[in-house]
Amino acid sequence: MATLEVSIARGEFRNEPPTDFSKPENRSRMEAALKKVAGELGRDYPLLIGGKEVRTEDQLRSINPSKPSQVVGIFSKASKELAARAVEEADKAFRHWKRTAPEQRAEILFRTAELLREKRLEMNAWLVYETGKTWPEADADIGELIDFCEFYGREALRYFGPQPITPVPGERNRLVYIPLGVGAVIPPWNFAGAIMGGMTTAALVTGNTVVLKPSSDSPTIAWKFVELLHQAGLPAEVLQFCPGSGSAMGDTVVAHPRTRFIAFTGSKEVGLRICELAAKVQPGQIWIKRTVLEMGGKDAIIVDEEADLDAAVEGVTISAFGYQGQKCSACSRAIVSEKLYDAFLERLVERCRKLTVGPAEDPANFMGPVINESAMKSILEYIEIGKREGRLVLGGGRVPGEGYFLQPTIFADVPPRARIAQEEIFGPVLAVIKAKDFDQALEIANDTEYGLTGAVYSRNRSKLDRAAEEFHVGNLYFNRKCTGALVGGHPFGGFNMSGTDSKAGGRDYLLLFLQAKSISEKILS
Ligand code: NAP
Repeated sequence: MATLEVSIARGEFRNEPPTDFSKPENRSRMEAALKKVAGELGRDYPLLIGGKEVRTEDQLRSINPSKPSQVVGIFSKASKELAARAVEEADKAFRHWKRTAPEQRAEILFRTAELLREKRLEMNAWLVYETGKTWPEADADIGELIDFCEFYGREALRYFGPQPITPVPGERNRLVYIPLGVGAVIPPWNFAGAIMGGMTTAALVTGNTVVLKPSSDSPTIAWKFVELLHQAGLPAEVLQFCPGSGSAMGDTVVAHPRTRFIAFTGSKEVGLRICELAAKVQPGQIWIKRTVLEMGGKDAIIVDEEADLDAAVEGVTISAFGYQGQKCSACSRAIVSEKLYDAFLERLVERCRKLTVGPAEDPANFMGPVINESAMKSILEYIEIGKREGRLVLGGGRVPGEGYFLQPTIFADVPPRARIAQEEIFGPVLAVIKAKDFDQALEIANDTEYGLTGAVYSRNRSKLDRAAEEFHVGNLYFNRKCTGALVGGHPFGGFNMSGTDSKAGGRDYLLLFLQAKSISEKILS
């Protein structure tokens, strides 16, 4: 089928609906999936290099943060030598993968989406065990992964179809998009399904080959996804599956002269390191490496005096404490008009006191654990800093249990330049800041090095219009939470130290994985 026909046959892109866990049949299916996956925990997984399984003595263990004694998976770990070999094998595979028909590559993504639908609850269950996501959070992550497959499949068909150019008399001209080469795909653990799979599929569907280095906290989800890609028809040698320590083998993959681009999502520190390392030309390197770097945030919600108070309290609660505050888009600063401040704070504390915390497997819990011990320690250190910088009004410590459970924590009266109002904590800690008016609220909101997401609650149209112009973030929301971007509807990416504003899930995204070639032919008479 020609590109256009395939695209029409698929129909327009629509977001995958969430699973409704209020329905008893869905609850029992999810319970069955958790049970099934529980029986598969603790297995050994190899690396995949050049289509072959490679096992190493050096291994990493991924654990269940709700129950750290439970091992989710044991993974062979790529050494620097194996990481370099992975790049070289990906380079070899590029010679044929770049020539496969775009329709065939898109079809693999559509088939993967189908397989994910069939296995959705099982994939959810892996996320629950490996990354401490509650049922709805895990389900949203896999839903977004399905969306990425469907969206990028269609987008690839668009990019590989005819491109509009201005006619030139006497010439037959066209512009075609071609892939770049070997891409290093380096995702975080916090959207271990969606971000890992989104960056991977964007790279593959555009004809690039991939070295996938999953986060050391979530390699099992990545393995399960790679299995589905293979089942959907992806040739094994096109994707190298390479878990390993980012700080040890990550540099090798980034610096390798045959690596053509790096798609990274994670912290500012690692993103900037990759940016610097990728900029250095290595012996034998004949291109400037491209980097797609999506990094942290210090996202704010402005609650104006003309806000709907109930909606604002709910929006801040969900944005700040959903997935334990471990979203790059999480609200970590509530900037509240002084006219509403006391009422807002009282209602917010009352609301958040009711949030339940405990094992992610138990659907009664709104919050699960934070990802690992070192994250927990770092968040607790920030809580101590917060006690000196603001007024603790809720939480402030651990929740008893084996897992890395932390209380939802709120600090009031936080000065805008305090460390807990400036540095990304990446946990369930919210700073509430008082603003004397809307001007000052906007000033405070913009006064960080980041610029990822933000929201404004106000019924005043002119204030919203001002925010649309002046609130400097990549994803801005009005009268709703600042988390939960949807593929297609809310292309995602941030300004300033939040990254290169790649707008994942948007129409410009695949361009980052492509280069354009202009071909002009003189018409002979
Ligand atoms: P991270 O520590 O920066 O790690 C991200 C990835 O980089 C992991 O796979 C990690 O591997 C790897 N890595 C570490 N050092 C490396 C190196 N020197 N070279 C190459 N790779 C290296 O971030 P994280 O804790 O996983 O994720 C949380 C962060 O991601 C937060 O800052 C959050 O805001 C950000 N985030 C941003 C977005 C966005 O769209 N802007 C979305 C989600 C998350 P190891 O696991 O082996 O260390």
